[in-house]
Amino acid sequence: MYDSPVISPEHKNAARDIIARLPKVDLHHHLEGTDGVDPAELQTPDALTSAVTRAVVALAEDNVVYVELRLSPEFYTAGGLTLREVVDCAVSGIEAARAQAPTMDARLILTAMRGTGLLADVAELTVATHGDVVVGFDVAGPEEEQDPLTGYAEAFASLRKNYVPVTVHAGLHGGIDAVADAVQDGATRLSHATHMVDDFSVDIEGIVPGRVSAWVRDRHIVVESAPLLEVELGAADELGDHPLPLFQQLGFTCAVTTGNAAAGTMTDQFLALADTFGYGLEEFFEVTVAAVNNAFISQEERQRLLETVILPAYEELADPEAGLVGDPDEEDES
Ligand SMILES: [Zn+2]
Repeated sequence: MYDSPVISPEHKNAARDIIARLPKVDLHHHLEGTDGVDPAELQTPDALTSAVTRAVVALAEDNVVYVELRLSPEFYTAGGLTLREVVDCAVSGIEAARAQAPTMDARLILTAMRGTGLLADVAELTVATHGDVVVGFDVAGPEEEQDPLTGYAEAFASLRKNYVPVTVHAGLHGGIDAVADAVQDGATRLSHATHMVDDFSVDIEGIVPGRVSAWVRDRHIVVESAPLLEVELGAADELGDHPLPLFQQLGFTCAVTTGNAAAGTMTDQFLALADTFGYGLEEFFEVTVAAVNNAFISQEERQRLLETVILPAYEELADPEAGLVGDPDEEDES
């Protein structure tokens, strides 16, 4: 499939400017969390369309090469737009962004909010618009106020029948039961899921995932980790206590995402992980590949992204002459 770039131990810790230049993949980024975005001011087609474009262009400036921008249609109907018109505006915004930032592949995920009673409508809208731009469905909102997702079995069944991929915000404020609900409803990715640690126990072998979290790990259900945001939201006292490294050690499939841009860009996330956990190019490559491989697009599109964008950039940035990566042969001699 591909060879991982060779990164020598002495150059494992990437410099800040290299991290900024790495091609990044963001599977979890809300329009509503983007700098300067206030849904109350985006109630006209032009305002909404251009906000979507600006959000994508801003991500491209951070060298994000693929994003699944999330948008909650129900936030933009106060000015008279229908849910469907909101999605049409967002699609236009994505198309305009593609023209302005040709190195960026941007898609949309439609997010239904818990507790507003519109989950089934947004699911239906996602089924109706699923295609090149709208690639998936999401549920967000306060888990403690959730309508139990089980009340929406029909909506989730319809998404499955129509082959629409699903991710769910679960296990940030809510516990392992919220994660269980999400996977039972067909989520193949989980936003946050930090509280899966509550499902872990310790025996003489070490830390052992429980029934639900083992299922998540063993089926490669992706944890869309947003470390800076999750610390801000109280999932850990400080980044050093964040469960991402533990999840990775236990074999979970983890992507690093922003969640909400106000908590930090992808570059900020990578820098913080480098500073706190010593992450370097190898770790960034690993989470980037995990993200690409679980993007809500076809295998051919993922492969193209990896082979024509991600790998060449890592190879270039990991060039021995750039002083970041040793030649594998030389490495053997040292
Ligand atoms: Zn989110």
